Amino acid sequence: MQFIADFHIHSKYSRATSKEMNLESLDKWAKIKGIDVLGTGDFTHPAWFKELKEKLEPAEAGLYKLKGKYAKEFRKSGGDWFDSKKQTRFILTVEISQIYSKGGKVRRIHNLIFAPSLETAGEINRRLGMIGNLKSDGRPILGLDSKELAKILFDVSPDCFLVPAHAWTPWFSVFGSMSGFDSLEECFEEYAKYIYAIETGLSSDPAMNWRLSKLDNIALISNSDSHSAQKIGREANIFDAEMNYFSVLEAIKSKNPDKFLSTIEFFPEEGKYHYDGHRACGVSLKPEETKKYKNICPKCGRTLTIGVLNRIDHLADRPESGKPKRAIPFKNLIPLDEIIAEALDMGVKTKAVAAQYQKLIAALGTEFNVLLNAPIEEIKKAAPAHIAEGIRRVREGKVSISPGYDGEYGKIKIFSEKERKDLAKQKALWV
Ligand SMILES: [Zn+2]
Ligand SMILES: [Zn+2]
Ligand SMILES: [Zn+2]
Repeated sequence: MQFIADFHIHSKYSRATSKEMNLESLDKWAKIKGIDVLGTGDFTHPAWFKELKEKLEPAEAGLYKLKGKYAKEFRKSGGDWFDSKKQTRFILTVEISQIYSKGGKVRRIHNLIFAPSLETAGEINRRLGMIGNLKSDGRPILGLDSKELAKILFDVSPDCFLVPAHAWTPWFSVFGSMSGFDSLEECFEEYAKYIYAIETGLSSDPAMNWRLSKLDNIALISNSDSHSAQKIGREANIFDAEMNYFSVLEAIKSKNPDKFLSTIEFFPEEGKYHYDGHRACGVSLKPEETKKYKNICPKCGRTLTIGVLNRIDHLADRPESGKPKRAIPFKNLIPLDEIIAEALDMGVKTKAVAAQYQKLIAALGTEFNVLLNAPIEEIKKAAPAHIAEGIRRVREGKVSISPGYDGEYGKIKIFSEKERKDLAKQKALWV
């Protein structure tokens, strides 16, 4: 069975998240997006964990679904703007933020944990609760070595899974330029053999990671790390396996291309840390330029934040087009609301963009169906022709992006300036 999974999100109990990050709206947005398996995020948070226990019931092995009284079927005939009878499956996950010193340096690492059952998650919570405060943030901050976290997890259950999160972001990741390590072995020591996957993060895609031969046996997974329901699935994983916790993890661990089909990625330039730079000065630099300036901001003289492209370049042992023998393919996409906003030349959060978005989902089922599968001719029937054209260009990778740097997202352009002017003339017709 083919299905799409996004394992890393945050609940309303994490900092800087939407109040709407509750199970009901996650279930609803998973249906709109076409996500079949969604991480719960934040299971170490006592209030969120209580909600998970109250509202979820077991589905397939290691997966959960909303109990009947909380689950909702969406029907256009019943006044909803889309149809969905599917029940979202939830998988228990949490991201742990770890700050500790090792080898004389301060390390800041984010790790994503998977648990096979609420009971196992409860035991993990009990053990981690003895180490630090799990209540203050859905993504708890612990002064715990990554190796010690691995030890605790696999001691609780060998079916737990640990994945270094957004493995390349400069400030909070296993390979981060500012506070990470140069290898998984250096970080996890004897537990490195239990690390089967890393999360590529928004600022890198698999092709960039393929340049490191030491990652050849590591699966590259992709998740949204979303803080709002509308952004879930902006990166995701496509499987063709039995839908249960153990098959999903087996597909990842084995990197079997018949079971782990592909990942859905941002264009990495759109991520917040693709290039190097200094945000306060508006300085964005390619790795070669950073070298020229000796890692110092040419405007203010402070140290530049070294981005993902530079960091990968530094650790890579293959050229840019290098590829390992066994690599899971991927597709770069742009979220549908951003494509519509660009095509309409309006803000992502405007009513006009929402109206076109809803029309497309109502006509074609899910956002992933619109972005990945629906024939362009079908899209044209449900939306203005240039939105369909925008989707076609994204599918073919024909977009230009000014890369993100030092916490600033990259900016996408699907249409040229001239095309935009021509489109503006037609605007009156469809706004
Ligand atoms: Zn994180
Ligand atoms: Zn996160
Ligand atoms: Zn500066």
